[in-house]
Amino acid sequence: MIENRIKELVEILNQASYEYYTLDSPTITDQEYDDYYHELEKLEQQYPNLILDNSPTKRVGGKIIESFEKVVHSVPMMSLGDIFSEDEVREFDERIKKTIPNPTYVCELKIDGLSVSLIYENGKLVRGSTRGDGVTGENITHNVETIKSIPLLIDYTDNLEVRGEIYMPKKSFNQLNLERKQNNEKLFANPRNAAAGSVRQLDSKIAAKRNLSTFIYHLPNPEQYNLTKHSDTLNFMKKLGFIVNPNIKIAKNIDEVIDYINEWTIKRDGLPYEIDGIVIKVNNIADQVKLGFTSRTPKWAIAYKFPAIEVLTKLNNIEFCVGRTGKITPRADLNPVHLAGSIISSVTLHNEDYIKDKEIMINDTIVIHKAGDVIPEVVRVVKERRDGTQIEFKMITNCPICGSKLVRKETEAAYYCENPLCDARKIEGLIHFVSRDAMNIDGFGERIIEDFYNIGYLKNVVDFYELKNHKQELMELEGFGSKSINNLLDSIEKSKENSLERLLFALGIRHVGKKTAKIIAQKYQTIDNLIDATYEELKEIVDIGDIIAASVFEYMSDEKNLELINNLKEHGLNTKYLGAEIKINDNFVDKTFVLTGTLVNYSRDEASDLIISCGGKVTNSVTKKTDVVLVGDNPGSKYNKAQELGITIWNEEDFETNLK
Ligand code: NAD
Repeated sequence: MIENRIKELVEILNQASYEYYTLDSPTITDQEYDDYYHELEKLEQQYPNLILDNSPTKRVGGKIIESFEKVVHSVPMMSLGDIFSEDEVREFDERIKKTIPNPTYVCELKIDGLSVSLIYENGKLVRGSTRGDGVTGENITHNVETIKSIPLLIDYTDNLEVRGEIYMPKKSFNQLNLERKQNNEKLFANPRNAAAGSVRQLDSKIAAKRNLSTFIYHLPNPEQYNLTKHSDTLNFMKKLGFIVNPNIKIAKNIDEVIDYINEWTIKRDGLPYEIDGIVIKVNNIADQVKLGFTSRTPKWAIAYKFPAIEVLTKLNNIEFCVGRTGKITPRADLNPVHLAGSIISSVTLHNEDYIKDKEIMINDTIVIHKAGDVIPEVVRVVKERRDGTQIEFKMITNCPICGSKLVRKETEAAYYCENPLCDARKIEGLIHFVSRDAMNIDGFGERIIEDFYNIGYLKNVVDFYELKNHKQELMELEGFGSKSINNLLDSIEKSKENSLERLLFALGIRHVGKKTAKIIAQKYQTIDNLIDATYEELKEIVDIGDIIAASVFEYMSDEKNLELINNLKEHGLNTKYLGAEIKINDNFVDKTFVLTGTLVNYSRDEASDLIISCGGKVTNSVTKKTDVVLVGDNPGSKYNKAQELGITIWNEEDFETNLK
């Protein structure tokens, strides 16, 4: 069994390497390659007697193309071991410290291109070659000579070899693929493959047109030049006229390495070229020599790879959820995958139009990413992976829970179950009522609500406040003890003191989200004032608009809803706004704010509340219309976007100064 899997993995990886390195045209993603590779590595560690001779863990790179002259490297060109988490970075440091007690590291950007060796004799470039299989590479001098950032002459007469990365800037890559698309040519998968495809051409005119560039980062045998530190080799090569990446940091300890990784995880999108990670190298050359090599990688360096931003996975099925408003949302059931720090096993497909626009079929391979770094989203279908098992999507016509006919509203893409007695809608409404941003009643998981609904304790939201009358029975239910029931009842009692905006949001009035509830509560102060409000008045409130105004007015005019509100009041629920009144502050008024990262003194909600209470607005995404981005620790991509658009950025201190 294991033997077969090992054989299968070796075959998959070797085929992928051939397509990637030799044909410059990968058919699987790097994430898939890395997953297979690590599975193989693990199995080989467990069963060393099953390691195959042609295992990719024993060699570097791929096969070389016959049409190029072969070049044997004087010192092998190695790959790098890779790691994917902070824990693994610390483990690397621990491993190093076993040999070198106080290591200093050099951190470099891992340029996503292909490595090149350049040989100079008497100050003249005589040969450029690819890494190939690490021992033998391909002679690409004719193409290397066309790259403007590679000096043809240097002011150094001894023989010299330098190594670095040839890459294609993002802009040139996009332009190239655009041209290829117009000419109906096959597109390059990424700038790395485009760069490799350009230098491995027999006709140098092609490489000359492709606007390639280089960063030089390695000098084999630095001792020969009396250099004792890697950082000195970088300066040495820079002085000779090579382009060395300027974003290099000498780190005194592993915490400083981790700071560098965090910094570039955020800033990488702003670079004009692709990086796929950070390379960490022991700085002292004598220490490097002490640490040595494995068969394919140096032990003194490692590559931290950024988490995948996009991943491929299989869409196994499409299911339908019924929301509290009766809205039907199709949801894709996926093969679980790691994506930016979490495991994703489902993703929303929003509605029928969305599925049709994206041409999604059941059994498709799809690409997903995290929108705004949080919610997973479908990017596209990989149609090339269709194998005949795909099934066309058909929207359901009846509610999957109560069976009533679904209705599509003219102005909306969604279908609705309009049966107010639909169990799914009622249960979702109850779940919403207790949720954190609504009445915030602790201890109610979705399962408990479903069970209590089915037993008959909870039919509507008033029943939460009647539960104390069933205390004895509840304590006898399987899985509940006196402690958990007491906690539950305590937190129900506590919820009676909530400020009005929580109740408004909890009632589940259509189109009234958390933010709208707050605006309305601040404006009307009590629920009675809101009940008396006219549609015209509601419409006039900034940020409310016709649709919300109509929905609130309709809700507050419905006898059944008024009865429910009275009932809740009779059970002792507060219906007044208890938050701060709006204190207009010119630094905030009419400005749009976006928050990113963690603040020290405020939660997200607290900071948003303060902004709103000073007359400002809080939105989720950074656009040209954003006035200020409030940035805390470990900010997300919104920070980069704000910088790109030149939007005012406040840190926590600026925020507090402006509040005064
Ligand atoms: P690598 O790209 O993961 O890392 C080693 C390389 O990093 C070096 O050879 C060098 O070229 C480069 N590099 C960039 N900046 C550097 C710097 N500052 N200092 C030192 N080196 C630097 O290793 P690899 O062996 O070239 O490629 C393996 C990776 O390629 C896999 O992990 C996978 O992601 C990808 N791959 C993908 C497929 C596929 O089918 N999609 C197939 C094979 C390999």
